[in-house]
Amino acid sequence: MERVVSGIRPTGKLHIGNYFGAVANFLKMQYEYDCFFFIADIHSLTTHPTPADLHQNVKHVLAEYIAAGLDIDKCTLFVQSDVPEISELYTYMNMNAYLGELERSASFKEKIRMNPDNVNAGLLTYPVLMAVDILVHRAHKVPVGKDQEQHIEMTRQFGNRFNRLYNVDFFPEPQAFSYSNALVKVPGLTGSGKMSKSGGEADAIFLSDDESINTKKIMRAKTDEGPKTQNQKKPTEVQNLFDLMQLVCKPDVIDTFNSDYNACAIRYGDLKKQLAYDMEIFLKPIRERFIDTLKNENLLANAAKIGAEKARASASRTLKEVREIIGIRKFY
Ligand code: AMP
Repeated sequence: MERVVSGIRPTGKLHIGNYFGAVANFLKMQYEYDCFFFIADIHSLTTHPTPADLHQNVKHVLAEYIAAGLDIDKCTLFVQSDVPEISELYTYMNMNAYLGELERSASFKEKIRMNPDNVNAGLLTYPVLMAVDILVHRAHKVPVGKDQEQHIEMTRQFGNRFNRLYNVDFFPEPQAFSYSNALVKVPGLTGSGKMSKSGGEADAIFLSDDESINTKKIMRAKTDEGPKTQNQKKPTEVQNLFDLMQLVCKPDVIDTFNSDYNACAIRYGDLKKQLAYDMEIFLKPIRERFIDTLKNENLLANAAKIGAEKARASASRTLKEVREIIGIRKFY
């Protein structure tokens, strides 16, 4: 069976960009593939969280994964740092990753622009660790949002380079995957681009936030003064709201607002109210399950333990072969 790997950094609560870009695919894939889904806590160390925040965030994301519908009997759900083989493979793969290609990575350039005071080596080699997350399970498919396309390309590059260097056919070439036609990019509410945690509180709709918070944010989302001529192209911030509607509203509802826009009769307040209403219908059951799951310490501990055992079994098989291939062999 084809193997699947994907993860999310525990840098805070999950937002609907994470959900529709990644988790929505996980929910279906867990029944069709051999899936490894993880919480990328080592990745999140590049931004220096406090120990207490890091632990809380890992717990939060674990509960969110389960509340969203990940079934630990169907997939392997684990915390990245529970699998030391990942750090070992990261060390080996770093020897074949070159400064020039790492500096050219779009995410590195963005991160040093956003945090010029914290340009650490972990940020530079971030794509290597991401590649290792995938290669350590020798995965074929990686369900991710559009923002991760370049990282998957780099993963193929590192895997192929290893295969060539040692003249083996060991790592498969992983492909980015989405059940929709193209990789998903969920826009933020501030009109600035993709929804993200780093875009600030007002930009993202979080899975676990209360209805009142989400509704307030949607009602404050950026729009323009309204169309002046019939059938005119929508400006980005308005198109963003229509894109968000596509995720949670019924097609006939979207058609009506589209017709109103084209006829210059749209009322953005009504559109936002509808979006907030449908968003809440979508989020309410997830939030309710999340609140129960977060309280259930036994369930979380058990899930993490089972996941760690399954993920380590897979990763240690890969590492055993990698050590042999690169010549790290025991004398005893
Ligand atoms: P991150 O929060 O950067 O660790 O991302 C975790 C997953 O969520 C990755 O698969 C991303 O591609 C996906 N993701 C994050 N933000 C968005 C977004 N705005 N639209 C679509 N997918 C996203």
